Amino acid sequence: MKKVAIIGAGVSGLYLANLLEKEKDFEYKIFEKRTKLNLEEGYGIQLSVNSIKLLNKIGFKNLSAHDLSYPKRVNFIDAKNNNKICDIDISKFNDETNFYTTLKRTTLINFLLEAIPEKKINHNIELKSIGYDGEKLNVYFSNNENEFFDYIIVSDGVFSNSKSIIAEKHITPKFYKSVALRGNIKNYDNPDVSIFMGSNFHFVIYPVNQNKEYNFISIIRKNLSEHQLSDKKMFENDDFLQSLLGNINQNSILDLKSNLENIKAFPIYVSKKFEIINKKNIFFVGDALFAFPPSFAQGASQSIETSNDLYEDIKNNNSRFYKDRIKKINSVNWRSKLNHFAFHLKSPLFAFIRNICLRYLTKNEKFLESYLGKIYRN
Ligand SMILES: Cc1cc2nc3c(=O)[nH]c(=O)nc-3n(C[C@H](O)[C@H](O)[C@H](O)COP(=O)(O)OP(=O)(O)OC[C@H]3O[C@@H](n4cnc5c(N)ncnc54)[C@H](O)[C@@H]3O)c2cc1C
Repeated sequence: MKKVAIIGAGVSGLYLANLLEKEKDFEYKIFEKRTKLNLEEGYGIQLSVNSIKLLNKIGFKNLSAHDLSYPKRVNFIDAKNNNKICDIDISKFNDETNFYTTLKRTTLINFLLEAIPEKKINHNIELKSIGYDGEKLNVYFSNNENEFFDYIIVSDGVFSNSKSIIAEKHITPKFYKSVALRGNIKNYDNPDVSIFMGSNFHFVIYPVNQNKEYNFISIIRKNLSEHQLSDKKMFENDDFLQSLLGNINQNSILDLKSNLENIKAFPIYVSKKFEIINKKNIFFVGDALFAFPPSFAQGASQSIETSNDLYEDIKNNNSRFYKDRIKKINSVNWRSKLNHFAFHLKSPLFAFIRNICLRYLTKNEKFLESYLGKIYRN
């Protein structure tokens, strides 16, 4: 019986736990920093068919369709006048059982938690250090206890402290000079994913269930000083939130000010580079492995894919994990950066040219297959 320590109970760690739960040859424990997982927030998440396929393997298809939404199109809209530029039929990447899905993040987390016995999640614990004792890893935790494991899987997100401990150097993500503003939007009715593009910002609205609840997420270019970034209170300050919202509201025909609820802001951080930390039987998944800019909505889907690849690798005693991942990470990363750039064009001339290109490319099968199909179908 192999023992696995999973550090971090986010999408990647919990998905991996679901896979291990079905294995007789593995036992696992999850170590989570927070005292409690957030299971109530109503914010959304988009999952493309690559991750839906993997989620369906562990029973996601049994979730009530009422708690999910299956958008068929992605609309590209000029935020200033609400004119639709073009759309992509994303349902063409679906098959009979796997559909592009939008939902509440908490619906996903609750689903992932269903199969995991409560006692396997240890809260309020962080990794402190690791030593090798023969073939085993001797893991020391913040509660001053230690335990032997065969594998350590690090899934503690973009700010992974465990990564620095294991690599024995300080590894930090970089601020992407952007801030996310998220909330729930009322008085909106459209079953698609709609991307509203503006000058130095874009926002995306999509349904999170069949109950006419919609998620709003905006990415706004904003440079902040180190001092501002460390000021957690600033991100909760109502004046700061209202100034971000005011900025988008001024440049959008939608009345966001009156219709947005539960707004929250946070800075966007991404990985500086893909670092392979070669330590025997220690692996990184999800954002701890690599965090992308969010404009391609692939972070969670990639986290699920990574955990699945790693599971196959350790189960079959292979060592292909990083080799296969590097290619995919590069492909997703440049697409995410390109989207971020294209969605935010400031110059009206460049935006005009972008719109012409978008109209052409979104109807070009070869382009769609290469830009989206390669990511969604794997
Ligand atoms: C604005 C925005 C919108 C996004 N929208 C989408 C989307 O629509 N679709 C999509 O696919 N992706 C999206 N993403 C990306 C996605 O949310 C992440 O890629 C995904 O959640 C990463 O999962 P994870 O398990 O690696 O990390 P996380 O979900 O961050 O989980 C990490 C866990 O580890 C815990 N932890 C942290 N430090 C420690 C420690 N030292 N010890 C123990 N535990 C620790 C944390 O408390 C947390 O529970 C978005 C990201 C952003 C910023």
